[in-house]
Amino acid sequence: MATKHPRDITMLSATERGAIEAVISQGEASRATIGDLLALSVPRVSRVTGDLIEEGFLAPTGEVQRGSGRPVQPLQVVATRACTIGIKLTGEAAYAVLMNLGGEVVATSVRTFESTDVDDVVADIELMVAELSEKSRPSMIGISLAATVDPNGRGVHDASYLRWASAPLADLVGQVTGVPTVLSNDVNALTLVEHWFGAGQGHDDVAVVTIGTGVGCGLIANGELVHGLGGRSGLIGHMIVDRSGPLCDLGHRGCLAAFATIPSIVRQLSGYGLGGDFADLAQHAVEGHPAAERVFVDAAVATGTVLAYVVNILGPQRLILTGDGIAINAVAGEHLDAAYREHLHWRAAQTEVVVQGLDFEEWARGAATVALRAVLRGEAEAPVVATDDASTTEAAQ
Ligand SMILES: [Zn+2]
Repeated sequence: MATKHPRDITMLSATERGAIEAVISQGEASRATIGDLLALSVPRVSRVTGDLIEEGFLAPTGEVQRGSGRPVQPLQVVATRACTIGIKLTGEAAYAVLMNLGGEVVATSVRTFESTDVDDVVADIELMVAELSEKSRPSMIGISLAATVDPNGRGVHDASYLRWASAPLADLVGQVTGVPTVLSNDVNALTLVEHWFGAGQGHDDVAVVTIGTGVGCGLIANGELVHGLGGRSGLIGHMIVDRSGPLCDLGHRGCLAAFATIPSIVRQLSGYGLGGDFADLAQHAVEGHPAAERVFVDAAVATGTVLAYVVNILGPQRLILTGDGIAINAVAGEHLDAAYREHLHWRAAQTEVVVQGLDFEEWARGAATVALRAVLRGEAEAPVVATDDASTTEAAQ
């Protein structure tokens, strides 16, 4: 058999890309599982996986599963065969990773912004992409930020940390780098990386809730990320849980953000002579300082209540609670748990709740996963659309 010249991942057929996505989303998969997921006949799936093995995209795991029928050898992706860049933007800096097909971070780059004007941020991104591309050429760039993103991943709106009202960021970055670029809300990107490479792997219905500076919620339903109308799903941060609670920045009394975000907890306790950072305050609560204990218990009750509502609505197999604020659970976990159980519907799903720490790099890895998904869904060839100029960007109010 003549060996084919190995193709770039962007040149694979939709079925071949679908087979790679099926293997990634399952961690590893047998030919029969790939065939079931893509509705392919046995000869077709053999041909497709055979080509992908020959061209170095898939490889047998080496472990043979013996059941009642023929022995089965699962397939896994060859991690080094392709890569994407993921970039997380905050109000102060950009954090970038080069990630391979196996979800592993190969290289990182960080740049602190001198200015958050759109053109200056695009110039920073251009430098980071050039630096990371020296290691390996990326198929696509993903950028994530705390903002509303168009469902097609091209434009961003209401990016309050960067003070952008609207910006056609994907096209601007695509133009200067020559690499197709896609945008994502940062919590959705984090949800996708958990679904493909983390605690949500292999599950079709997953919720990710983040608590920290703010509150976020990303949802996977029927194996797909939920975007909602205009990319506005998962807005649980200002759900009111107790109308006699503290105030949030938006003037809600007793919303989840008012109880449980790090700035709210710091603000509530500053009136009691308790300084220091969030970790210091958590330590005061553990040591039994009455005000600190009260504030952490209330934060845990509010968090548990809203987690139950998320589970009642989605019915996920897994709910992942993460973020810099999860010390709430370490300090007052039994209260979080009690409130969660109290507010679950009596017929609610037997959801497994996973509480895990959040390495900041995960945000950028999420963006790289959004880019990888776009590659595997044939969006890497999307033409870079020229805009008139950056004057389409408006300054936020
Ligand atoms: Zn609020």
